[in-house]
Amino acid sequence: MTTSTEAALPPAIEVTDLTKRYVGADGRSVLALDRVQLTVGRGEFVSIIGPSGCGKTTLLKMVGGILPWDSGSISVLGKEVSGPGPERATVFQSFALLPWMTVLDNVAFGLKVRGVARSERHDVARKLIASVGLAGFEESYPRQLSGGMQQRVGLARALAVKPHLLLMDEPFSAIDAQTRLLLQTDLLDIWSKTDLSVLFITHAMDEAVFLSDRVIIMGARPGHVTNVIEVDLPRPRTEATRLDPRFVDLTGQVWARLRGMIVEETAA
Ligand code: ADP
Ligand code: MG
Repeated sequence: MTTSTEAALPPAIEVTDLTKRYVGADGRSVLALDRVQLTVGRGEFVSIIGPSGCGKTTLLKMVGGILPWDSGSISVLGKEVSGPGPERATVFQSFALLPWMTVLDNVAFGLKVRGVARSERHDVARKLIASVGLAGFEESYPRQLSGGMQQRVGLARALAVKPHLLLMDEPFSAIDAQTRLLLQTDLLDIWSKTDLSVLFITHAMDEAVFLSDRVIIMGARPGHVTNVIEVDLPRPRTEATRLDPRFVDLTGQVWARLRGMIVEETAA
């Protein structure tokens, strides 16, 4: 996805030697991230996978500018992160929709906060709702929708503010396996029509490989990057991709790395 002119620009995300220690109420301290390095190029789709507790959410929150770190640096589009910014939007596992607002108002919410006039923000929201496949549900409330549909709303809401970067923390893990496959292709479809860069956390190996240009594997205690796997599958990725021997091979490579960690954990 990167062209030669884009390559000259600073990357979407540059994380250097990022280290984070939590100190709990009991005074116990946990080294959550130990000198983590990663780069997400402009327009790239990069996934992070790793065992529970390896610091994935911590890392994403720091890139989002909502959690401080101890040492190292994070740049977004060439600028050092010092807080949240309009160029970054986050999609959460728990959807985090406002239950008292309709789908339309949920999607338009970020624009309302920015002072965009009602008719304009509703226009933008209606287009996005259609683009995530929810036309006709504008006046529904979140509780009336399935989990998959609620996450489509979450995605539309994130896109409404026209971010350059989408940060996604296990966005599909609360969604049934079949719906999840549809959401994956729909997300790639939306991504391919924009210049969005995506940092996507998942614990599903097939999901990481299917979506990504690169899969970053993390290990725990302390959280660190163990491997980076380049996904050289052609795009667009389709249902046929899932049957491609190369897809099976890459998913196997991810598993081989993760399996090692699980064995280590049980042996410890
Ligand atoms: P992941 O998302 O990969 O499961 P997290 O980023 O949530 O991992 O957590 C990384 C490590 O930091 C874990 O050991 C977790 O228990 C610890 N941790 C996370 N948040 C806090 C917190 N607020 N206070 C203390 N420890 C925390
Ligand atoms: Mg997490």
